[in-house]
Amino acid sequence: MPSKQPDHIVIGAGFTGLLYATLSILKGETVHVYEKRNRIGGLIQSVRTPFGLVETAANGILNSYRLEALASELNLELLPSRKDSKKRYIWIDGGPKRIPISFFGALRVLYGIAAIPSGVRGDESVFQWGKRVLGEEAVKNILEPGLSGIYAGDLRTMSAKLVLEKFLTLDAPLWKNIRATIAAKKNLPRVPKSRRGTVSFRGGLGELLNAMETKVKSSLGSEIFYSETAPSLAALRKKYPKSKITIAAGLESSLRILSSFDPNFKRYVRVCRSLSVVTATRFGKKPLLGNKNGFGILFPPGSGFRARGVLLNSQIFDGRAADGNNSETYIFGGALDEEIAKSKESEIISFLEEDRKRIVPGGDDPLNHYVTVWKSALPAYDAALLEFNRELDRSLPEGVFVEGNFRYGIGLSSILERAWGRRAFDR
Ligand SMILES: Cc1cc2nc3c(=O)[nH]c(=O)nc-3n(C[C@H](O)[C@H](O)[C@H](O)COP(=O)(O)OP(=O)(O)OC[C@H]3O[C@@H](n4cnc5c(N)ncnc54)[C@H](O)[C@@H]3O)c2cc1C
Repeated sequence: MPSKQPDHIVIGAGFTGLLYATLSILKGETVHVYEKRNRIGGLIQSVRTPFGLVETAANGILNSYRLEALASELNLELLPSRKDSKKRYIWIDGGPKRIPISFFGALRVLYGIAAIPSGVRGDESVFQWGKRVLGEEAVKNILEPGLSGIYAGDLRTMSAKLVLEKFLTLDAPLWKNIRATIAAKKNLPRVPKSRRGTVSFRGGLGELLNAMETKVKSSLGSEIFYSETAPSLAALRKKYPKSKITIAAGLESSLRILSSFDPNFKRYVRVCRSLSVVTATRFGKKPLLGNKNGFGILFPPGSGFRARGVLLNSQIFDGRAADGNNSETYIFGGALDEEIAKSKESEIISFLEEDRKRIVPGGDDPLNHYVTVWKSALPAYDAALLEFNRELDRSLPEGVFVEGNFRYGIGLSSILERAWGRRAFDR
């Protein structure tokens, strides 16, 4: 076990841990990172196969001036998504639709945006919030497929405070909140137009994680300890009384680490849930939507598909499939289909092929599949997680931080935004 006193100790070398470690190093601090596996990356792995690149979790990150600055520090070139990939589809009434709502449904949405107070009421779920503000059709055809695609959760138990409140600072109609969000962003540096939206790197998101790993390993006084589960928080505090500690170990591990340190956290181990997700990348010859271009299709619950959605990889980023082949990633599981994580790989491939046949009955023979099953991968954004976050906000000991995809935002851009904000306050 290392003994020198680093400025910062980080537990976990996934995206979150490596990010906090890198930002510390860029500030001139020394960092020790503990990673229980023999590799970095956590959920994110960019795997090169003879058929093309496979991302096992995130396939892209929403660009921001923060990501631009980080990439530039690491000498990385961002890969913008292709212009013709901007269109998003939702499967409604037997086909992929860009506007998945009827004339009357749209009128109801407009009325809600213009006139209904959008501040979150009490313990409202996202489902209740959506019905109240935007109307039933928008919930069924837009919010449900969209948010269950991102959070893998169930809108009926998803906490509106946790998911939406940061965008709803005023208890006023939605248009005023949208205007306030745009105004708040106005003074921030802007991203060049050609790189707005979702971006990645030529070698996938793994390239960013590898560059952060190299940055830590090559900095004097900083180290990554592989295959080393972090010692208990009490032991770390005793041995390194002056180092700040960031726990970036995912929800389940963070709960275990915290509850063995402070019994206050024990009850969250029982109530906070993590959801299983499955990704299956399929290489074939023909694009799923023929001549139509787009980012992907979301499948609303009850639309007859087992997948929650499909990403059209070859159309999102250049160079994702070899030899002019086509690559698609199907995402399954989450709160509405926990059972799928128990399926065999061959069964998951059949679910994928059955779903694909519903879209293009003629089909196209697959060249290859790559399946990844993530058990307990994503936090359920429910009332228990909201309580846990509040407990973390008020009762962490000084110099101890807990970060990750369960702290007010599941995506990589939210994790980056929080980390950027924290740089200013850390000593
Ligand atoms: C299928 C899927 C698709 C996604 N798509 C997107 C997307 O397109 N865009 C986007 O922005 N986000 C996406 N996400 C979310 C994003 O990938 C995750 O939120 C993010 O990768 C989480 O990173 P993390 O470092 O917080 O956690 P993890 O990746 O879980 O890393 C935690 C690390 O801590 C280590 N660890 C755990 N316990 C200990 C311990 N006691 N001691 C030492 N080490 C420990 C683990 O081994 C692991 O390496 C997706 C997620 C999934 C599952």
